[in-house]
Amino acid sequence: MSTSSSSRSKMITCQGVVCWGPGEAPKVEEIEVEPPRSGEVRVKMLFASVCHTDVLCCKGFPAPVFPRVLGHEGVGVIESIGEGLVSHSQLKVGDVVIPTYLGECRECYNCRSGRTNICQTFPLQAFTGLMSDGTSRMSIVCGGGGKPLKLYHFLSCSTWSQYTVVDANYVVKIDSKLPIPHASFLSCGFTTGFGATWKEAKVETGSTVAVFGLGAVGLGAVEGARVHGAAQIIGIDINESKREKGEAFGMTHYINPRCSNDKSISEMVKDLTNGLGVDYSFECTGVPDLVNEALEATKVGVGQMIMLGAGTQKSIAINFVSLLGCRTFKYSVFGGVKVQSDLPTMIDKCINKEIQNLNQLLSHEVQLNDINKAFHLLKDPDCVKVLIKL
Ligand SMILES: [Zn+2]
Ligand SMILES: [Zn+2]
Repeated sequence: MSTSSSSRSKMITCQGVVCWGPGEAPKVEEIEVEPPRSGEVRVKMLFASVCHTDVLCCKGFPAPVFPRVLGHEGVGVIESIGEGLVSHSQLKVGDVVIPTYLGECRECYNCRSGRTNICQTFPLQAFTGLMSDGTSRMSIVCGGGGKPLKLYHFLSCSTWSQYTVVDANYVVKIDSKLPIPHASFLSCGFTTGFGATWKEAKVETGSTVAVFGLGAVGLGAVEGARVHGAAQIIGIDINESKREKGEAFGMTHYINPRCSNDKSISEMVKDLTNGLGVDYSFECTGVPDLVNEALEATKVGVGQMIMLGAGTQKSIAINFVSLLGCRTFKYSVFGGVKVQSDLPTMIDKCINKEIQNLNQLLSHEVQLNDINKAFHLLKDPDCVKVLIKL
C-alpha cells in the first residue's frame, strides 16, 4: 500500500503519442500524466498495438477532439490507485490489466438483459475525450514553461503512452498465464471478431460463414467460426497473402475479389453455398460497398450480417432489395463481448488453447518512438498486428 499512497500524489512525465489535429501525423511528445483520482487507476503500459480505428482517430473519428493521446489496444501494470476505489473491483498495485473502452456494471437494464455488451452506466467513452467527470488527466507543456495544455484521451484508454489514467470500471485484470503481448491483441480487434461469432451471431455447428476482410478482426471471426463448429468458413480479402493466415485460423474457402471474372463477391459466396448464401456474414472493413455485399451474401429469411468495421463516412446506402430478403443487419462494438463477464472467459480460452494461433497475429514490432513507422506498416499487405513496445 505504501507504494500506492506515495506515488499516488505525483505527476509523471513520460512519452506519449499525440495527434495534434485532423489528418496530422502522430508525434511522440513528452507529456504529463496526473495521479489517479477517486475510482481511477494509473497504468504503466507494457505493450500496445495498432488498430485501424487509431488511423480513423487521427482523421477526427468519432469526434474531432484534439490534441489527443492515441491508442486503445494495450496491456500494462497498475502503478497507483486513486482513493475511494470501489472495493468489489479488487484491483491492486502490480496487477497486469487491459484498459478497455467499454465498462460493465452488471446492474443496469442493458447489463441484466443478457442481450448486449453496451452498459448504460459505463458506456463507450468515445466522444468527449475526457474522463467521466469531464476532465482530462493528461497535459503537455509547450515551450517556455508556460501553462500546460490539456490533452484529450482516446476511447477511455490512450494506451500509446508510457502511463495512462483509466476509470477502474474500464480495467480488466488478466490471468498471468496469458502471454502479455497476446493480451494487447485481445483488447480490441481479435476479440471483436471472435466475440461477434460467439456472442452476437451465436454461430452453431454445421453453419456457413463469410468473413469480409482478413485483418485481426476478420481472423478473430474465422477463429470463432472454427471454434463454434462452422462447416464452411469463406474468407474474402484482396491481399493474396491473407489466404495463408486465414487458413491457419480455420478458413475453408478463400475469395480474392480481384480475381472475380466480373462476378460480385456475394455471387461468388453463393456459388460456394449451393446458391443460398451463408447463415452469417461478418463485415470487418467498414467499406460501404462491402457492407451491401456482406448483406446480400447471406441467406434469404434467416441470414445475419454483423458489421464490425468502421469508416469516416457519415452514412452508408443500403441496398433495399437485399433488405427485402428479410435478412438481419446488426452493428456490434467489441463483438458483443462484456468486458467483466466475457473477456476473462476469452482469456481462459486462449490459455487452455481452445483459441489457437494468437502468435500468428503478430507481424511487426516497433518501439513507441517509431510510431509513424507503425502507421506505414499498416499499408503492408502482410501486416496483421503491429506490437508497440513501451
Ligand atoms: Zn480497435
Ligand atoms: Zn451496466
